Amino acid sequence: MTFRAALRAYGTAPSERDGRRWLFVPYDQLTDAVGPLSRDAPESLGIVLVECPEKAGRRPYHQQKLALLLTNLRHFALEQAARGVSVRHVVASSYVAALQAHPGPLEMMRPAERELRAELAPLVDSGKLRLLPHEGWLTTSEDFRQSQSGPPWRMDAFYREVRRRTGLLMHGGQPLGGRFSFDTDNRQPWRGEPAAPAPPTFEVDDITREVCSLVRERFAHHPGTLTPERLPATRADAQHLWAWAKRECLPSFGPFEDAMSTRSRALFHTQVSALLNLQRISAHQLVAEVSADPRIPLASQEGFVRQILGWREYMHHVHDATDGFRVLAGVVSPSARVPGDGGYARWAGTPWPTPEGGDGGSLASHLGAQQPLPPAYWGARSGLHCLDTVIASVWQDGYSHHITRLMVLSNLAMLLDVAPRELTDWFWAAYVDAYDWVVEPNVHGMGTFGVGDLLTTKPYIAGAAYIDRMSDYCEHCRFDPKTTCPITPLYWAYLGRHRAALQQVPRLKLPMAAEAKRADAQKQADARIYEETSQTLVRGGELAPKQRTLF
Ligand SMILES: Cc1cc2nc3c(=O)[nH]c(=O)nc-3n(C[C@H](O)[C@H](O)[C@H](O)COP(=O)(O)OP(=O)(O)OC[C@H]3O[C@@H](n4cnc5c(N)ncnc54)[C@H](O)[C@@H]3O)c2cc1C
Ligand code: SF4
Repeated sequence: MTFRAALRAYGTAPSERDGRRWLFVPYDQLTDAVGPLSRDAPESLGIVLVECPEKAGRRPYHQQKLALLLTNLRHFALEQAARGVSVRHVVASSYVAALQAHPGPLEMMRPAERELRAELAPLVDSGKLRLLPHEGWLTTSEDFRQSQSGPPWRMDAFYREVRRRTGLLMHGGQPLGGRFSFDTDNRQPWRGEPAAPAPPTFEVDDITREVCSLVRERFAHHPGTLTPERLPATRADAQHLWAWAKRECLPSFGPFEDAMSTRSRALFHTQVSALLNLQRISAHQLVAEVSADPRIPLASQEGFVRQILGWREYMHHVHDATDGFRVLAGVVSPSARVPGDGGYARWAGTPWPTPEGGDGGSLASHLGAQQPLPPAYWGARSGLHCLDTVIASVWQDGYSHHITRLMVLSNLAMLLDVAPRELTDWFWAAYVDAYDWVVEPNVHGMGTFGVGDLLTTKPYIAGAAYIDRMSDYCEHCRFDPKTTCPITPLYWAYLGRHRAALQQVPRLKLPMAAEAKRADAQKQADARIYEETSQTLVRGGELAPKQRTLF
């Protein structure tokens, strides 16, 4: 049965005079675990759900992301109709047009996305739409403010504060195990033991099939592979994914959190972020269950709780407090770039519309990095096995785990001085879990050092030795991490090029001192390798090893 027919079968035709309380539920609030849907009787409520093809076509979003979002929205509509909630499902050219046409007032939880808040502002200003607090977050802006003496802001201080306030993994006012963080225990490479779990698959029903056909037809020009059986779509699918994650991933989550491998894309990472960001799984449920599960060792419990209660909430507060880095970091000339698509238009020759009504996002670049993103990020081969492997997994799944995002994709872009905006826009389009509130602080903030030390203590850069230690990528690479790999000279060249700014960063004191001691000939070789590598990659060329000695 098609989605329309399935919804009609519930016979919940909405009327403005039905006396119900009407809510607008956007694509990323698909939950009845919080807000009025969790408290009011279903028969007293109506919801408006809007599909907006213009929004889906605003950036070259991965096809898997569009399908995930649409199939969850449609399944949510049916789940709510089955409970007795009146459901109005609208396809419209804009959210404002769709909601304006609704007879009577509407309420909604405050959107997480700035972009949606900006679009809806006229309706809020006119009184048509009333904003309620978003109850899906675990912490408040007050928690954030109270924990910080800055800016600059620090996640650790925030995390300690909210651990104390929530009592999660605490006993008698003290952290379980005597420490707030077990991060230093959680840095092991993975050599194949214990075996990494295979990711779960899901039944593909008529609704998901219909959505996949729609995406393949209407968004055929979008990049990425669409894999229907990897789409959790129903409430039950979401719980199935979470049960799998708790059973198969979390017992080994902590120790291998930073490991990378060609044999397993996700290792022991849970892959819950996409559903969490749609509110299909509740952060409240995740942290409560993990911290009470005796099968999960404390280091893994703490590592996971830190990600959700700490990093995820912290990033959201940073985005809010800076209006997406527009307030504190300033904005440079928009003429410096092609906005909104991470260089896709330039690479693919496809004109991509600039996001309407938006300013294209912050263009801050603390170190003045302004290089374009190499076509390798869109799938051209670079010859760097670590990069090519991770990029392939991104265009396959719309996903890669944290360390690959930070220490491969962002690391290389930083070492090449890629404009922070370009990399952020690429992540936004490529990842199934990317929305402005989370992708901006993670990429523009943490991944590129685009706003300096505002939210992290240093740029997360590394040479080939780190990648070799934490992965098996180098074993399969045409380069040798100790001799011919260009990433280590790129690392030294980066420190040298940005010496004036980076010597102010306390956590880079040792590497900066080491760079200063390098012989002039080595420094010149580093700078030359940077120029050659950058030029080859930016024009879409493939790198090949040259024999050289680095040290
Ligand atoms: C450059 C870069 C870009 C990123 N872009 C995104 C993004 O667009 N969307 C996104 O949800 N996360 C993003 N992250 C954070 C993190 O990498 C992903 O949340 C995580 O990899 C998702 O996979 P998982 O569910 O298997 O995570 P797990 O490792 O199993 O972690 C559990 C959960 O913790 C949360 N989490 C952990 N770290 C962060 C963080 N820094 N910010 C927000 N949530 C966090 C996520 O919800 C994640 O699902 C990014 C990180 C980096 C370094
Ligand atoms: S040798 Fe260099 S390019 Fe190759 S996988 Fe290792 S770090 Fe990456």
